[in-house]
Amino acid sequence: MVESSSAAVASAISSNSNSCESSPSKDSTVSAAERSKRQWKYQEKQKLRQVLSPLQYHITQEKGTEKPHSGAYVKLFETGNYTCVVCGQRVFSSEHKYPSHCGWATFYNTADQASINTGSTNGSGIQSSESLSGNTGSCVERAIDTFDGLVRMEVKCSKCGAHLGHVFDDGPKKYGGERYCVNSAALKFIPSSQVNTQTQ
Ligand SMILES: [Zn+2]
Repeated sequence: MVESSSAAVASAISSNSNSCESSPSKDSTVSAAERSKRQWKYQEKQKLRQVLSPLQYHITQEKGTEKPHSGAYVKLFETGNYTCVVCGQRVFSSEHKYPSHCGWATFYNTADQASINTGSTNGSGIQSSESLSGNTGSCVERAIDTFDGLVRMEVKCSKCGAHLGHVFDDGPKKYGGERYCVNSAALKFIPSSQVNTQTQ
């Protein structure tokens, strides 16, 4: 029996049992592999606590919501991209940002539909040309959120699962009618000037 590093164990697990396994809650027959996976997840969370601010951690990992009008990007209308603060995946674009006056940063679409191609993948794995033409919303995922007795549609980063905010159906009608209401603390803004792209 060879003792391998936890990273190797983790990658072996994710490649072996990545199909449709939902994590069992309290199961007495938890396998060594599952225990190792949970340990790995715990370690990842601990690492995130070190790199994220308490607010960023609370919002992205505990589905928190920042106070209205408190976010750094609520009134920002510079040209650029908004990436997930946890993993760096591009999730929104300034192209779709609009002032909804709801107190949070609002977009009527996701970065999948952006025509601003910064090419700033920076090793984050974003395959620009394909994702830009697709209409699947693949840089974010949606999930029903029933927290607090309200039924809302949660929006998460599709790459790392970070909670970003919610999407509502009261956005601008001419752009499809959706309003992505996003916590600034879940985002990192990358101005276009930093990536040498053409502005509109
Ligand atoms: Zn992410």
